[in-house]
Amino acid sequence: SRSQLQLYRPGRDAEHLYRLSLVNDLRRAVPNGELLLYYQPKMQLCSRRVVNVEALLRWRHPQHGIIPPDDFIALAEHSGIIRTLTDWVLHEVIRQCAEWSAAGMDIGIALNLSAMDLGSGELPDLLARHLAHYRIDPSQLVLEVTETAVMRDALYSLEVLNRLKACGVMLAIDDFGTGYSSLSHLKRLPVDELKIDKSFVMGMAEDEDDAVIVRSTIELAHNMGLKVVAEGVETEAAMEMLRSFRCDSAQGYLISRPMAAADATRWLAAATEEFASRPATGPAECG
Ligand code: C2E
Ligand code: MG
Ligand code: MG
Ligand code: MG
Repeated sequence: SRSQLQLYRPGRDAEHLYRLSLVNDLRRAVPNGELLLYYQPKMQLCSRRVVNVEALLRWRHPQHGIIPPDDFIALAEHSGIIRTLTDWVLHEVIRQCAEWSAAGMDIGIALNLSAMDLGSGELPDLLARHLAHYRIDPSQLVLEVTETAVMRDALYSLEVLNRLKACGVMLAIDDFGTGYSSLSHLKRLPVDELKIDKSFVMGMAEDEDDAVIVRSTIELAHNMGLKVVAEGVETEAAMEMLRSFRCDSAQGYLISRPMAAADATRWLAAATEEFASRPATGPAECG
């Protein structure tokens, strides 16, 4: 990795101390109520309708302000705190889904799991308990896992994924294209959806190779009976291209950035109203 190449770097000790103190702070993040979820809409391309959002974790650190997941998820994994974080996220997502449902909003929510979550048999039981308590439709939930996470202990992961799937939730492979899973392996996973990594999508209108990768991934996924989501859609050009490739859904800054719950609620209500006021689109458009 990049950090291993930097044998000497001024400030390295300071960074090490910073990380150590972050781990300690992270242990208190859940009990102190410092975690929060942002929600990013996912748009169905044929209908231009938003029926789903992805929950993205943020940490409101008392001294350092809002810390993004890329700065603390790896720390949480290495220090064994990730299970606590995932349990909190799972509960909060299901609670939010029930809250939206009670307000008459039919919104599905996707959440991210880490490799270590698949190495534990506790998650399916916890999921089943929350589902029973909040009585949401389990198919409203999407659990996102990366190829790399699944490959780490393929047999055991498969067992956990099957147990999660048996609860009635949807499963998605996140960041598709960045790992190295074999297609034969992918075929055996009980997944419903592929999310094409944003590194291919962001510049696809300018980079022909990326466009080819995206188009063939969509075809491949469709041939396997999977839905496809493109992440990192930042331009109209990329959006149009994805439409012409028959991609199912899109997520990205063009549609919306991730938003805090209250903002997401307002955004979703406005989008639903806007959709209802639009002239009806024929079934052919979504066929
Ligand atoms: P991800 O699941 O692939 O999420 C997509 C990331 O891309 C998010 O970053 C999102 O804000 C960002 N993004 C969305 N649209 C665009 C776009 O158009 N352009 C660009 N440049 N970026 C876009 P975020 O929120 O910083 O999350 C980063 C990663 O952290 C996530 O990648 C996911 O792997 C991980 N993560 C987030 N929340 C959780 C969580 O609750 N648990 C676990 N284990 N991991 C999480
Ligand atoms: Mg994700
Ligand atoms: Mg992703
Ligand atoms: Mg990612």
